[in-house]
Amino acid sequence: MLRAILLYLSGAVWARRIVMNWGVAQRMAGRFIAGDNLDAALASVKELNARGLFATLDHLGEHVTNAEEARQAAEAYVEIFHRLAEAGVKSNCSLKLTQLGLALDFDLCLGNMRSIASRAAEFGTLVRIDMEDSGTVDRTLQIYNTLREEGLTNIGVVIQSYLYRSEEDVEALLADRTRIRLCKGAYNEPPEVAYPRKADVDENFDRLTAMLIDAAKTHGSEPASADGEQPPIPGIATHDPKRIQFARDYAEKVGLPKGALEFQMLHGIGSELQLELADAGYPVRIYVPYGTEWYPYFMRRLAERPANLWFFIRSFLRS
Ligand SMILES: Cc1cc2nc3c(=O)[nH]c(=O)nc-3n(C[C@H](O)[C@H](O)[C@H](O)COP(=O)(O)OP(=O)(O)OC[C@H]3O[C@@H](n4cnc5c(N)ncnc54)[C@H](O)[C@@H]3O)c2cc1C
Repeated sequence: MLRAILLYLSGAVWARRIVMNWGVAQRMAGRFIAGDNLDAALASVKELNARGLFATLDHLGEHVTNAEEARQAAEAYVEIFHRLAEAGVKSNCSLKLTQLGLALDFDLCLGNMRSIASRAAEFGTLVRIDMEDSGTVDRTLQIYNTLREEGLTNIGVVIQSYLYRSEEDVEALLADRTRIRLCKGAYNEPPEVAYPRKADVDENFDRLTAMLIDAAKTHGSEPASADGEQPPIPGIATHDPKRIQFARDYAEKVGLPKGALEFQMLHGIGSELQLELADAGYPVRIYVPYGTEWYPYFMRRLAERPANLWFFIRSFLRS
């Protein structure tokens, strides 16, 4: 219930205005966001690399309201590729298609994503398309498939274990050797499309993890690309120790080398676990969001964990 309210608020313009202007929220968001600009994000990526961790940069933004904003968002990514190459850091990029105009016009978004992926390919960089709410999944996969058919193989996608459809999607994507990031899912979904019980989401997460690991084992690993990610390395994106242990045990059981199983976590969450996994020999990639459009991302992080919310409410009441 609380989660649903927060996720509703993440899309409410009036709530956005209140929260973004409130100092406590800005400070709290600082835990999850690397900074306002690309320089701050790159500094964070360098620190991660120095600790043996890879990164994926996300220039925050979603649900743009006109074609010009979508075009600007696409251009910002081209600058990111330049700066990543210049800095010589180990990082790829993640983005959301509603930032490129998915909710406005399919072809506009496809065109923006095509130009981003083509430029990223020139830099040898992978671009991962984040998965948003269930209403966007078909169009997101359609854009991915279209560009892949055009020969752009430097694109990865995200699958959410809370959706009933995900097993079928994973099967189809693996047949194409797609680079998949698996997460639980961060949006407010009705029981018609998503498991309402956390235990089922977790069980499905393990089931899909096993599918990804089996596929990685079957295909074998290919040489690493410049950004450190290899096709079709599974990206297991969770901070849940039980899910991580399952992935480790299953990979060991089928004989998948540690280097072929990537764990992914969010900036500001599970820092000790990140280093523990890297020390154990697994590639670990940290999702590094930056920019001024932090509100919906921050609200989803609050919704994930009641402890964050109580801290937020206590601070709000005190102020
Ligand atoms: C790299 C990465 C990329 C992602 N990309 C997407 C995407 O494209 N689409 C999408 O829908 N979702 C995405 N997510 C979010 C994901 O769906 C979950 O909402 C989020 O990861 C929390 O779930 P969990 O797997 O960590 O498990 P949970 O069971 O929710 O949490 C396990 C433990 O992790 C810690 N934890 C989890 N969340 C928080 C938090 N907000 N603050 C503090 N501690 C926390 C707590 O200790 C908690 O007990 C991504 C997550 C990661 C790590």
